[in-house]
Amino acid sequence: MKLNEKGLLVIISGPSGVGKGTIRKALFEIPDNNFCYSVSMTTRKPRPGEVDGSDYFFVTREEFQKRIDENGFLEYAEFVGEYYGTPMDYIEKQMEAGKEVIVEIEVQGALQTQEKIPEAVFIFIVPPSKKALIERLKNRGTDTPEKIQKRVEKAEREYSLAYKYDYIVVNDDVHNAADRIYAIIRAEHAKTERSIHKYYKLLEGK
Ligand code: 5GP
Repeated sequence: MKLNEKGLLVIISGPSGVGKGTIRKALFEIPDNNFCYSVSMTTRKPRPGEVDGSDYFFVTREEFQKRIDENGFLEYAEFVGEYYGTPMDYIEKQMEAGKEVIVEIEVQGALQTQEKIPEAVFIFIVPPSKKALIERLKNRGTDTPEKIQKRVEKAEREYSLAYKYDYIVVNDDVHNAADRIYAIIRAEHAKTERSIHKYYKLLEGK
């Protein structure tokens, strides 16, 4: 996939329970943004209040497998027994329209995306402390103690992969974290390798 000059692909990733979803929502509340959210597909059951097509596309394992076979995912991963994936078609369409596409995924999927699209922006969210992460997972109240334990163990392994990302953002406060991501996106647009072509056109008077 070729990155559009205008729109960036921004990958928000990090351990489960770190607050990626809440930060993403706060990011979308920032006025005058040009963001669009890539809704993932999953085989897990909806949590109370979750809406199909808005939080996720909830599908069966057969439907998910069919899309894998058709090469329809930018990336996908199995996470504590369920599949999660980023549908390719929507992302391509939005990026062609010059939108900033925000993808919120776990670590395996982010690393797959890095192989395919290294020019995307990779942001790793970390909790202010290990204790804070465990508290968040417990407070969510949606998972069994066994599932929480699995998520915590997975998080421990994932911290060691943070060095593969372009940026690390601490979720000390949701709005601070969203502001930092907003600043990163703005700065990325000004990066020489992204903006030099526009500058050359300017010099040529185009
Ligand atoms: P949850 O079940 O808590 O909604 O999500 C579990 C994990 O899967 C979270 O870390 C979430 O960011 C991640 N996730 C959500 N959508 C995708 C996706 O499309 N691909 C990948 N690789 N991970 C995803």
